[in-house]
Amino acid sequence: MGRFIWALSVLAPIAVILAVVSATAYGTAGFVAAGVASGMLLGASVTVVAAWVYVRRRVDPVADAATAIATGEDTDAALPARADPRLGAAFTALAGALADARRDATIDRLTGVETRTAVMTTLASEVERAIRYDRQLSVAFVDVDHFKAVNDQHGHPVGDLVLRAVAQAIRSALRTTDVIGRYGGEEFVVVLPETAIDDAATISEKLRSAVEHVSVRARDGSPISVTISVGITGGRGRTLRPEVLLRGADAAMYAAKALGRNQVAVDAALDELAIVAAAPISQAEAARAREIGATARRAAEDQLVEFVHGLPEGGGRPSDAVLTIADALARASGLAPADVEKVRLAAILRDVGKVTVPIEVLRREGPLTGAEWQLLAQHPRIGQVILEQSAALRDVAPLVLYHHERWSGHGYPYGLRGSEIPLGARIVALADTYDAIVAPRAGHRRASHEEALAEILRRSGSQFDPDLVTIFRETFTTGVPPRAPEWSVDSLRRTGTATGGRPVNDGGLEPGGTREPDDTAPADAAVDAPRP
Ligand code: GH3
Ligand code: MG
Ligand code: MG
Repeated sequence: MGRFIWALSVLAPIAVILAVVSATAYGTAGFVAAGVASGMLLGASVTVVAAWVYVRRRVDPVADAATAIATGEDTDAALPARADPRLGAAFTALAGALADARRDATIDRLTGVETRTAVMTTLASEVERAIRYDRQLSVAFVDVDHFKAVNDQHGHPVGDLVLRAVAQAIRSALRTTDVIGRYGGEEFVVVLPETAIDDAATISEKLRSAVEHVSVRARDGSPISVTISVGITGGRGRTLRPEVLLRGADAAMYAAKALGRNQVAVDAALDELAIVAAAPISQAEAARAREIGATARRAAEDQLVEFVHGLPEGGGRPSDAVLTIADALARASGLAPADVEKVRLAAILRDVGKVTVPIEVLRREGPLTGAEWQLLAQHPRIGQVILEQSAALRDVAPLVLYHHERWSGHGYPYGLRGSEIPLGARIVALADTYDAIVAPRAGHRRASHEEALAEILRRSGSQFDPDLVTIFRETFTTGVPPRAPEWSVDSLRRTGTATGGRPVNDGGLEPGGTREPDDTAPADAAVDAPRP
């Protein structure tokens, strides 16, 4: 259309020029003929331009509004009065249908709260935010108690009214930042951003009480009330996962049902040290259970720590330097307190697997035979098996298993490389090797801290994580303090039964039975502690 009008606007002046030229060439007859032709052309041009302007004025607003709605700039674009009425009416109907479809996708029609899809999207984005800014987040799972009975007694439509009243009562009791969505049937999920579990429990109690006071009239005018069971769970930062939160809150909700309904239950897996969701139980019970569990965990740790203190030096007995270094590196690497604790424990228990290595092999001065090497090199795996026997120590097992892996991928038992090796194991590996370098050796003077530091720096990026080497260099510029940091179990067990024979060391063991020079300390003295 635009091109047609443009052509006409060019043709019209040409026709006028032609009329003037023909008048000069052919006299009056030519002038009249040319004048009629150009007049027709001009008339047609003016008509088309006028029609084009009219249509653009009527259609353009509809096109603009449709574009705004389609691109999501404006979800409720209004049409100016000049828009074509029929087109405008059709457009308004379509826009309304689109808005309804959008609303249906996010707002549940029956209850007026978010749909399952919308609340799951909210949960995912809140989890992401909590991880990014290391914030608290809690989730509540709500189920109406004995709702089937309400339907059975009063009919489904009345049941619908009750369901809507319950959803609205919950929403009114929430803060503006909280989001409630209908998860299904008579179940709701509430996302509580920036909320610690204790506060979530208080809020949930408010919800429970609010629903208890809801009253809907039955057809005969009698009041209908219902109650809800609420399960909550929560956590902080990078430990959070949407599906884990949902599962925890759902399990806690079932616990609330089992405990008699019309109550709030807390998912008990709130302990930072927990690696799997525990059974959901009431808040008071959870506190008591955690206390008992923590005591049991300490007992398991104590037992094993006591056991390793009875091992010969270099044969599994803990070293102050290893603990001091591992603790400092773990803290400086920004690990969470629970993870620092795991690294400390791994540093103490790292060589517990040497318990199965014959004393002659541990004492051997020269190169080991292939078979002896096999025996010694399996100590991380033995350590793993030992730790896995105690549920409380199971999460420390990987750190012990991988403490002889090397950053370059040339360590053992699996040849893991770089960040495939858990950070805690990389920390223990560095601390362990430092200890091996400075350990006294037969016929050698003890390596100084400066020599050990130079050696560690030389192996940065090959044997050790370069970032850890940097932290090590900055933390221990002049030496490693002689005493291990205060640690209850450790200080308790300092009176181990080993009498301090010369160490037996494997700090630089290479697969294939050779020992790397400089970081080995062959056994050269009797190891006089009793073998367990
Ligand atoms: P409890 O949860 O306490 O164990 O008992 P319950 O009776 O609520 O058990 P259940 O969760 O198994 O039953 C849920 C009932 O909710 C079943 C169904 O009839 C009803 N329901 C689910 N969706 C709707 C709905 O949209 N409208 C109405 N009126 N009822 C619904
Ligand atoms: Mg249900
Ligand atoms: Mg129910």
